Amino acid sequence: ASGDRKWNFSAGPAVLPLDVLEDAKEDLINYKGTGMSVMEMSHRGKDFMKIAEEAEADLRELIGIPANYKVLFLQGGASSQFSAIPMNLAPEGGVADFILTGAWGKKAYEEAGKYMTTNLAASSKDSNFSTIPDVSDWKLTKDAKFVHICSNETIGGVEFKEVPDTGDVPLVADMSSNYLSKPIDVEKYGIIYGGVQKNIGPAGMAIVIVREDLIGKTHPLCPTMFDYKLMADNDSMYNTPPCWTMYTSGLVFKKLIKMGGLEAVEKMNEEKAKILYDAIDGSDGYYNNPVDKKYRSLMNVPFTLGGGEDLEKKFLKEAAAAGFESLKGHRSVGGARASIYNAMPKEGVQALVDFMADFKAAN
Ligand code: PLP
Repeated sequence: ASGDRKWNFSAGPAVLPLDVLEDAKEDLINYKGTGMSVMEMSHRGKDFMKIAEEAEADLRELIGIPANYKVLFLQGGASSQFSAIPMNLAPEGGVADFILTGAWGKKAYEEAGKYMTTNLAASSKDSNFSTIPDVSDWKLTKDAKFVHICSNETIGGVEFKEVPDTGDVPLVADMSSNYLSKPIDVEKYGIIYGGVQKNIGPAGMAIVIVREDLIGKTHPLCPTMFDYKLMADNDSMYNTPPCWTMYTSGLVFKKLIKMGGLEAVEKMNEEKAKILYDAIDGSDGYYNNPVDKKYRSLMNVPFTLGGGEDLEKKFLKEAAAAGFESLKGHRSVGGARASIYNAMPKEGVQALVDFMADFKAAN
């Protein structure tokens, strides 16, 4: 692809921008003449404090985060938040509504059930998670503590295109796989959260954006590390933070601001996704994407080959040999999947559709 790097279509950890990696490479050994790697510096020292402050300020600028929202950089990925959210939003239990549009929403739903009552308000399971149930059909609970959605299902490739209106009940969204891929209207949410290892940085951290009136009280058994208020009061540095991941994420925030912000990023992602979906739809059933066109993800594009599993295996084998990395579909669904996050350039997507056309012609 570029030098000796492959076109990496992995769903996560995923491709990072090459220029960010080049910058990080310098700072890995000697950060701006300090004689230390970013990974070796005290997290309370002035150099790292500056990195952390800039990362938050840049993220606030990039998304346009209102002052009454806290930004938390937390360890344990998005999966830890599946437990932290009920423990912070429902300290005394209560009901939470879940909208199931795929495997990740299901995990969040099951985990929350350990701490509170969970209500399956809507599910697209009947369609094999290939669509999003119409908001008018959601069976929401009147006094729910929150409504949870997964804004982009990484495995099924289904993405919310509008933010559902849940009235006074806080909307909580797992944005792990479409974080920073398009503008975010923060005020429509109570909590936005996601792991960073797809669009933002190295794995191991979640970014949580939470409306401050929602925090302050936690479930009696809430681990200290999961206490949003405590983490907010300590600027996410109650303990040793994931320094390297925060630093690298900060480089990505700066890059996205320079690119023209999230509107420009969205435009780029729409162009990329169109190239791939057009190639699939124009292949007369040779390649198929099962998702309802209204909700097709700009980030994760699952597809099968009409010719069946043996042909699929051949496709994946030849694609791998041609330098296309991690096109195999998730083990739970099979087929192929191309994840085309922010850092996947248009040329990478073009190279893939060219390969797909060649494969079709030859097979
Ligand atoms: N939510 C979604 C939508 C994901 O795609 C993933 C990981 O792929 C997760 C949650 C879990 O993230 P983590 O591995 O950071 O816990």
